[in-house]
Amino acid sequence: MTDNVRVRFAPSPTGPLHMGGVRTALFNYLFAKKHNGTFVLRIEDTDQTRYVANAEKYIINSLEWCNIPFDEGPGKNEKFGPYRQSERKDLYKQYADELLASGWAYYAFDTAEELDAHRKNHEEKGKTFIYNWHNREKLQNSLALSSDEVKAKIEAGEKFVIRFKTPKDETLVMEDEIRGTISVNTSTLDDKVLFKSDGMPTYHLANIVDDHLMQISHVIRGEEWLPSLPLHVLLYRAFGWDAPKFAHLPLILKPVGKGKLSKRDGDKLGFPVFPLEYLNEATGDVSRGYKEDGYFSDAFINMLAFLGWNPGTERELFTLKELTEVFDLKRVSKSGAKFSPEKTKWFNQQYMQLKSDSELSGAFALILAKKGLKIENSYIEKVVSLVKERAVFVSDFWDLASFFFENPSEYEAKAVKKQWKETTPDLMKELISVIEGIETFESENIETIVKAWITEKEVGFGKVMQPLRLSLVGALKGPHLFDIIEMVGKEATIQRLNNAISNL
Ligand code: GLU
Repeated sequence: MTDNVRVRFAPSPTGPLHMGGVRTALFNYLFAKKHNGTFVLRIEDTDQTRYVANAEKYIINSLEWCNIPFDEGPGKNEKFGPYRQSERKDLYKQYADELLASGWAYYAFDTAEELDAHRKNHEEKGKTFIYNWHNREKLQNSLALSSDEVKAKIEAGEKFVIRFKTPKDETLVMEDEIRGTISVNTSTLDDKVLFKSDGMPTYHLANIVDDHLMQISHVIRGEEWLPSLPLHVLLYRAFGWDAPKFAHLPLILKPVGKGKLSKRDGDKLGFPVFPLEYLNEATGDVSRGYKEDGYFSDAFINMLAFLGWNPGTERELFTLKELTEVFDLKRVSKSGAKFSPEKTKWFNQQYMQLKSDSELSGAFALILAKKGLKIENSYIEKVVSLVKERAVFVSDFWDLASFFFENPSEYEAKAVKKQWKETTPDLMKELISVIEGIETFESENIETIVKAWITEKEVGFGKVMQPLRLSLVGALKGPHLFDIIEMVGKEATIQRLNNAISNL
């Protein structure tokens, strides 16, 4: 398809990166990789009032954890750098000046108080104040004032902004890769500020100038930026530059009810909305992260890929590499994508099955070490292979498998009541001597011998198997009973049977 695909992820470092932001980064990454293109990270930090110092590091760490590193960005292949807008500050003014010179922009001196007064005034009449063609000639700007007046104001050090002069009554026809053709009448737009009185460009100017200078071919970003599209398209035209292609990704919606997924939904329903845990240094608040909650990054990414995109088949599991092969902007939907915490867990559970036992046992070993258990790796691996089917997180392993490591300290009351009968202790005593006599202590062999004994005794399988399980596990759960018996060994099996006989 397109030659030389260059896309960018352009977050503002105002706090932790929301999972919606990660999804935007992911779609950019996938698109870039699919077309052998370049994925750029640009830090949009022109709004000094909202700047948060540790946010950039957080963003970079998040991309790393997700395995979607940028090709170019702060500190990496800086061929179009710098990649922090604050470090490009001096560059933007000349572009604002260019628009002033060509008549596409104008100085405006209206103070915040004056603008507020206009707004109020309009509200009282049931109208909305829009700074544009229909009133700009009556306001404090270089279109209304003489050039001498303008010069005098600037020389006197009066504060000014630079506004875009939006054309009047033009039907602007725009293309979006996801939404198709969109048209807007320019008369409804306001004359947005491009350059602020603090000497900084606004998002709009800096974003367009940088996308141009960094030779961005496709702008892939969230739907919330769609209202800015007309201005951006007009800016490209005003500069005489070719515009990139645009694609606005659908919103991520809350799991229940309507509206955008917010951090509050996460807190309420108990799921993270951030990739990594985040400490708000100002308040001391800590927000949960997918990583720390025990999600595998590849499961998280696979889940995110399906928020607003689908491959057109029933298949749901894709590695990152496979995603880069099948991803297509044409299959991104226009309508919002509902986030589901259950589905996210499902993905994690699926990835758990795909991970090797040795990888999982490494993570489980850390949990065991914290409990003071130093166990041989091969044993942990075997345990993992037996229980992982039922696990969503590595942290589930202990609950699912503690009986592989220690004797049960209690017995589930309901099960005891139902399964531990008056005749059980004698039966278990006999079973102990059967087990004592088994030479080859391997699951299959133990099973054959124990079952043969049960058949011979004519007591019914449940009468033996359930109390046996209860004695070994403390509950009526767990994998194949004879696997457990082989694993814990003859001695521990007999000990557990004796414990149950004396305790129950
Ligand atoms: N800085 C904007 C943001 O925080 C970038 C929007 C865009 O991609 O144009 O999302």
